Amino acid sequence: PLPAMSTTEGKPDADAVEEMAREAAAWCAMHGLVVGDRADPRSGTVPGVGLVHAPISLLPSRLPESFWSQACELAPLFNELVDRVSLDGDFLQDSLSKTRQVDDFTSRLLDIHRKMMDANKKENIRLGLHRSDYMLDSETNSLLQIELNTISVSFPGLCSIVTELHRTLINQYGNLLCLDAKRVPGNEASRQFAKALAKAWDEFNVDSAVVMMIVQPEERNMYDQYWLVKYLRESHGVTTIRKTLSEVEAEGRVLPDGTLVVNDRKVTVVYFRAGYTPNDYPSEAEWSARLLMEQSSAVKCPSISYHLVGTKKIQQELAKPNVLERFLENKEEIAKLRQCFAGLWSLDDEEVVKSAIENPDLFVLKPQREGGGNNIYGLDVREALIRLKKEGGDALSAYILMQRIFPKASLASLVRGGVCHEALTVSELGIYGAYLRNKDKVIINDKCGYLMRTKVSSSDEGGVAAGFAVLDSLYLTDKV
Ligand code: ADP
Ligand code: MG
Repeated sequence: PLPAMSTTEGKPDADAVEEMAREAAAWCAMHGLVVGDRADPRSGTVPGVGLVHAPISLLPSRLPESFWSQACELAPLFNELVDRVSLDGDFLQDSLSKTRQVDDFTSRLLDIHRKMMDANKKENIRLGLHRSDYMLDSETNSLLQIELNTISVSFPGLCSIVTELHRTLINQYGNLLCLDAKRVPGNEASRQFAKALAKAWDEFNVDSAVVMMIVQPEERNMYDQYWLVKYLRESHGVTTIRKTLSEVEAEGRVLPDGTLVVNDRKVTVVYFRAGYTPNDYPSEAEWSARLLMEQSSAVKCPSISYHLVGTKKIQQELAKPNVLERFLENKEEIAKLRQCFAGLWSLDDEEVVKSAIENPDLFVLKPQREGGGNNIYGLDVREALIRLKKEGGDALSAYILMQRIFPKASLASLVRGGVCHEALTVSELGIYGAYLRNKDKVIINDKCGYLMRTKVSSSDEGGVAAGFAVLDSLYLTDKV
């Protein structure tokens, strides 16, 4: 029987919300929408221990359908762009040349990239599993790109289940909520990512080979990853092994013909779910593992070039006038890509630095880092810019400046650790994309489902794992 609840214009009362939240949390536990619980020290290393439901929004967040279509349409364009840019080694090296002077991590990546250029190493089979993230800017009512991720994009596994959860809740409580489950778009990200990995594996035609997932030694988001492992095995008959970078260093070697062998197993696809942050390289061992894999003939998802294309510096370079034109021919497609670019500037631009010091709230200052918690906002932008200017030299090159996007806030119920609370929130939409090609043949170039993340509007950062945001899904509306 339905719980006794009263509603005002589709808004259930507090008791009803509590009841729904309990049901939602139970549903998560029963459907694998779970993460490791910080409170349990073993939850990041021992599977099946210390689970908690993933932080979720109780109901999907609204987005006008036109923006959804726009974001979906952009996915294959960004996939193609990444591939084209990745082939221009000089562009990557030149664009990042100043960054490398001040950023050791970028510098190490560029060293590996340079080695591959010098050896004239060609990646014939190229696999990209990307996610392009957007926010709807309320000032301009336009969808603007936050960033394009080309390495270790998270939540392709869990996001598909959030969509199912929301459809289930709407089906159960729909007439009270005045919502229609059909307006929550389907989300097959996990199946599509698994399929792309399997297809890359297929290109090698080595039955005994495995997909190797590179993971962090401690990973509380492991169930997101295990969803892909499951589909790889069940839908494609492909085995996945999980290794840390230091395990690859200890157990890996490359045969004279280029074959990557780890612990006596042939690896034809390396899928990185680690390796995007300097923290993943505590010693030389991890760097030599990265180099070893890059030197092998295995498909790297991503290759060192694809990884570099996803840096914030390259995002900013691509936004300069006439740069997209170097890589793409189709004028309409170029215009579509450019339409979603926010203002992006290098700190060479003295005028922009000056105006950011004067109006710091209109900018975000970003270092060359991934994974959340690194950006600088508000008055800190002013302070940092003044300090960096004083330091002089190339200190400014470690950062880019970005136009601050102001999404409209709305009320949502967030459920975290079994506790539901209502807050003013903003959302970020990520569209997954898969790209696979073998020489001249494009085998896959698709959008692959979506990730909606919702966070309290007063929080600047957006990471779910970092504890800022919750997983969400989309509710498409007509109005623009
Ligand atoms: P990361 O690599 O850490 O994910 P992002 O560029 O995605 O770096 O920034 C992290 C978060 O900061 C985003 O998820 C978003 O919530 C917020 N953010 C980033 N850029 C902007 C911007 N230009 N305007 C407003 N918020 C932003
Ligand atoms: Mg991000």
